Amino acid sequence: MEYISTRNKEKVFSFRDVFLKGLAPDGGLFVPKKIPFFTSKELTNYKSFSYNELAIEIILKFCKNEFNKEDIKEIINKSYKDFRVKNVVEIKKIGNLNLLELFHGPTLAFKDIAMQVIGNMYEIILKRNNSKINIVVATSGDTGAAAISAIKDRSNIKIFVLHPENKITEVQRKFMTTVNSNNVFNIAVASNFDDCQNFVKSMFADKKFSTSINMSGVNSINWARIMAQIIYYFYSYFKVSKNGEKINFSVPTGNFGDIYAGYIAKKMGLPIDKLIIATNSNDILKRAIKSGIYKPLKVQHTVSPSMDIQVASNFERLIFDAYSNDSDKVLKLMGNLDKHGEFKLEKNILEKIKDSFFSASITEKETKDIIKETYKNYEVLIDPHTAVAIGAAKKFKLKNKTVVLSTAHSAKFFDVVLSETKIKPELPKNLKTILVKQEKFEKLPNELKKIKSYIFDRSG
Ligand SMILES: *Cc1c(COP(=O)(O)O)cnc(C)c1O
Repeated sequence: MEYISTRNKEKVFSFRDVFLKGLAPDGGLFVPKKIPFFTSKELTNYKSFSYNELAIEIILKFCKNEFNKEDIKEIINKSYKDFRVKNVVEIKKIGNLNLLELFHGPTLAFKDIAMQVIGNMYEIILKRNNSKINIVVATSGDTGAAAISAIKDRSNIKIFVLHPENKITEVQRKFMTTVNSNNVFNIAVASNFDDCQNFVKSMFADKKFSTSINMSGVNSINWARIMAQIIYYFYSYFKVSKNGEKINFSVPTGNFGDIYAGYIAKKMGLPIDKLIIATNSNDILKRAIKSGIYKPLKVQHTVSPSMDIQVASNFERLIFDAYSNDSDKVLKLMGNLDKHGEFKLEKNILEKIKDSFFSASITEKETKDIIKETYKNYEVLIDPHTAVAIGAAKKFKLKNKTVVLSTAHSAKFFDVVLSETKIKPELPKNLKTILVKQEKFEKLPNELKKIKSYIFDRSG
């Protein structure tokens, strides 16, 4: 398996390059040169697999040059041994929708599912190469916690997490700041998520800086995250589709990472009909799918903060695919985005995208009402991101079965869930202590220079 950049399809990279660099040197995103395809016969074989067995089969396809099957087996089993349910995820029926609960990992968000795998992959790769790295990552709330949980207490690796000060929930923050580990550094930046993400991008782009600290990234642009997220589309498909019929997925979307994993699953042969892009009022993707114009606006703060994003980085991967791997075209469009703050997709390309994607944006009121109604009708507490995905699914007349990705535990969004349902969502027992533990984080101003020197001075 070889990888290429969305901005240059000629130069090939190994899985290890892709894994450690995160972003391609030309600023593009890494994608597999060729996506593996399963015949329907092969799919039938996988039907009875446990989550871990399925993960081993699928992940191996993407990183055979780096890991053998025993390695992957060890990585997967280690990654999921502490999840609170046996098969990593669980499926619940609410009315005619199937809720795919992805939040049974250590930090109560779907990001744990990929991040734990990444933590264990780092360990093996760094040991084999006898090297050290510093991870720098921006978070809109959940990435940071999942990354810290996966990296804490490991040797040869430090992690620096930038979060927008006061723009994540208290529980989200405490998951990050109460981890008492020497290799973990939390930075509260007086700004929003897009600025934090741009700082990380600039640090990567500054070759002198990024090389000097051997910088690595685990943001949702890291291919390994996408790869690990493909698994639960397969797993839930086998549980929900009874006769091999096509099903839909509704996915709460910020960076277009999770839903892009669903698109890859579809390209791998999984019978998926529509992928529903569910956004909050940060509706850049909905606007792009409707008009073809991709144009970031100002970030709105919502009750689903992990999607308060206007630059949906992974969308570049979809565009690359829609333009049949024409990296020159992608380079041009991204140039337009840099220069003019927007780009436009051609009509035939947009049509192609619409074959696989629907999109809807859900208002704050709708989100809250859905939290309330879901509790009233089914006695299920859902978090606001899941509510956005339910709301989006309900906007369409869907004839196929539909799986809604439930991306976070309700207790992570305590205030809004309590105010809508009058029920206090409870953290799982073993996590309750984070509420009373001492917090540790540094507040820094919205200045790249200060953040860089903070990181440089503490890098390992
Ligand atoms: C990160 C996150 C999302 C959005 O995922 P993307 O991969 O950025 O599209 C949705 N819900 C929750 C709870 C998240 O943490």
